[in-house]
Amino acid sequence: MFMKISAKTKICLIIGDPVSHSMSPAMHNAGYEALGIDDRFVFLGAKVKAQDVGVAVECMRKMGIHGLTCTIPHKVEVMKFLDEIDETAKKIGAVNTVLNKNGKLIGFNTDWQGTVIPLEKIISLSGKKVLVLGAGGAARAIVFGLLKKGAKVKIFNRTKEKAVKLAQEFNCQVTSLSIKSEIRDFDIIINTTSVGMKPLEKETPISTKFITNKQIVFDIVYVPFETKLLKEAKKRGARIIHGTEMLLHQGTTQFEIYTGHKAPEEVMRKILYEKN
Ligand code: NAP
Repeated sequence: MFMKISAKTKICLIIGDPVSHSMSPAMHNAGYEALGIDDRFVFLGAKVKAQDVGVAVECMRKMGIHGLTCTIPHKVEVMKFLDEIDETAKKIGAVNTVLNKNGKLIGFNTDWQGTVIPLEKIISLSGKKVLVLGAGGAARAIVFGLLKKGAKVKIFNRTKEKAVKLAQEFNCQVTSLSIKSEIRDFDIIINTTSVGMKPLEKETPISTKFITNKQIVFDIVYVPFETKLLKEAKKRGARIIHGTEMLLHQGTTQFEIYTGHKAPEEVMRKILYEKN
């Protein structure tokens, strides 16, 4: 495919530290190829240290790089260096997508669609009771998305003060899950903590005893592909959603921002699932 690249090809780049594990280049390039636009776009990766994000944005500006995808640790810091930030990314307080629109650098956040799109393929979120586990960076985008779609959100976090702060900012509720059977009352449970990911792969963020077959359990952790929480929820008859679906849909939304074309979802999904 790379034989089609020329001096006219638009460059998109994921920056992070680390970055070599990222599936974004493979996912986006497969999408370009499927649409026959792999002469117009190419997606690469570059390791950029936390303190160098400003320099990376300056390079984007000077070199006319078309798209800049930001992952850990750049999503908040990058905002300082942009010309414009869309209202959603401002509310979430993080940018994972920068588009160079005729020299103007505009920041977006597509992480919230990464959660909302897979859920809304199964159920309408309006009025649904959702338990969000965690109050970190990913939780911010997810809580925003759920509330935007009319869900009733309660946040549970190990450090309760962080849950309270997030809930106050977004105008939703907090739970300490002191009555564990409360877990039964939710339509949807979403894990946004790193519990379940290595080295915590043998743990679950909550007791799974009260998960029921009427619930949807979504774990945004994607390494391992199926976390202990998802395995146990599946045994209890719940419908499960893997973290890879979030990765996919933050990517399909971003693909559309960078190219203006509808993303070939199945092609991009196949790339991510081949790894597992
Ligand atoms: P973060 O900002 O560092 O937040 C981490 C969250 O996990 C906090 O709520 C923290 O609670 C909680 N936590 C960490 N260790 C814990 C433990 N041992 N017990 C209980 N809670 C614990 O991280 P993030 O950026 O939000 O990312 C969180 C996870 O989501 C990571 O595993 C990341 O890989 C995954 N993620 C996946 C996608 C995707 O596309 N699928 C996208 C983004 C992130 P405290 O507040 O108490 O510290």
